[in-house]
Amino acid sequence: MPSVAIVGAGISGLATAFFLRQLRPDLKLTVLEKGAEPGGGKVRSSRRDGFTFDWGPNGFLTNAPETLALADALGLSDALLPASRAAGRRYLFRDGALKPLPTSPLAFLRSDLVSPTSKVRALLEPLLARREEREESVYRFLERHFGVGVARAFADPLVVGITAGDASELSVDALFPHFRAIEREHGSLVRGLIAAQRRSRREGGPRTHLASFRNGGIQRLIDALTSELDASLRLGAGVIALERSGPSGYLLRVEGGGEVRAERVVLAVPAFTAARLLEPHLPEAARQLAAIPYTSVQVFGLGFDQTELPRPLDGFGFLTPRGQGVRSRGVLWSSSVFPDQAPEGKVMVRVIAGGTADPDFTELSTDEALTEVRRDLEVTMGITAAPSHLEMVRWRRGIPQYLLGHQERLRQLEATLTSLPGVVLTGNAYRGVGLNDCVRDAGRVATALSQL
Ligand code: FAD
Repeated sequence: MPSVAIVGAGISGLATAFFLRQLRPDLKLTVLEKGAEPGGGKVRSSRRDGFTFDWGPNGFLTNAPETLALADALGLSDALLPASRAAGRRYLFRDGALKPLPTSPLAFLRSDLVSPTSKVRALLEPLLARREEREESVYRFLERHFGVGVARAFADPLVVGITAGDASELSVDALFPHFRAIEREHGSLVRGLIAAQRRSRREGGPRTHLASFRNGGIQRLIDALTSELDASLRLGAGVIALERSGPSGYLLRVEGGGEVRAERVVLAVPAFTAARLLEPHLPEAARQLAAIPYTSVQVFGLGFDQTELPRPLDGFGFLTPRGQGVRSRGVLWSSSVFPDQAPEGKVMVRVIAGGTADPDFTELSTDEALTEVRRDLEVTMGITAAPSHLEMVRWRRGIPQYLLGHQERLRQLEATLTSLPGVVLTGNAYRGVGLNDCVRDAGRVATALSQL
């Protein structure tokens, strides 16, 4: 019986296994996960005292079909929970105040986040925009289209919520390929976005919103996948070596003894782990993989009594660009977005700190980090009360950064990997960091392997 081993049971590895099982039920499938619990990856939620705390992602966007379709295939459609309407309102903390992020041209004109001159420059985008073939940073792309004022105000917030990275280092081509596609088709982003809006209205496409699951948060996706894959999943099975076995197979050595043989191997682990496993076979590919940088973030879940809040949590929360005197990069008003994430009369606030702007944050002790976060909540929202509920997770090297050159790196990797037939890479380090991206790539890999 042909066999496939998948290393890593985050959403990427689990979704690959699930799709492969659907396409080829006859394959012998083994999923090896280092962690002792199902869902050792970033998609995880804990429930305690009526609070739900998402350790990593709090949901996925419904403007792409992948995760929605996966949820449907797993029988989770009835449990889908769209974000509340209030979640459409987002803020920036700038110049000592929370300011609404404009969501329409009129709101943009009224906003004090950019100067009148910068607004005029931005409005000229449909006339001034030009196509550009060279790879650019997110910052440079926005600056070229909308002018320096808009780039300064919005480039950082645009990327912080996705990668906690630096807009002047990240590749727009790798991180936002749809922006580049719009530019290629329309020249102007504004014209392209208006055309897309009209098309979606005409064709009645799905409304874009954030979605999670009731009674358990985003972890339900992982729970459903792990229960489907039950017998194929081996927990506490960190892979320490990949060796060739026979003319066309592989042998995986597992921490603490044990081995698994397979004809095909999917590495659904962070790029630096894939680098270690590939080093003896393909040193050049290993070098390319090890060069994908990761940033560390720390996530806090803080529960408060509603009466302790000086202002209503009337939205999704806020982001803080660099240089605003606070260390928290994003504060999500989780129980306003998904009201079932806090018990009656309480609220859940999720704070994300660290990232490339503040690499030392994750080295603080828990007490020091909490002091910083509480100070930030006081400065930004006026909260002085101590949280009655507290959760915290540190993601060291948690989020990959798609620097300029990322796509060229991928091309080289693909070419080098052909000399190790049957070994495939998937995961958030390559073709998108969002859940939809990971699920899409899992589908691509499963389809390719199903030809076995
Ligand atoms: P991982 O989740 O990292 O899984 C890799 C797995 O491999 C882990 O289970 C690990 O234990 C295992 N492993 C590692 N080494 C070995 C080994 N040697 N042997 C066996 N197993 C091994 N995305 C969204 O779409 N929406 C969001 O709101 C969002 N928010 C986020 C917030 C945070 C704080 C973070 C960190 C990420 C967020 N993301 C979000 C991104 C998204 O969650 C991740 O990109 C995605 O979950 C990554 O999945 P993965 O399976 O590729 O990697």
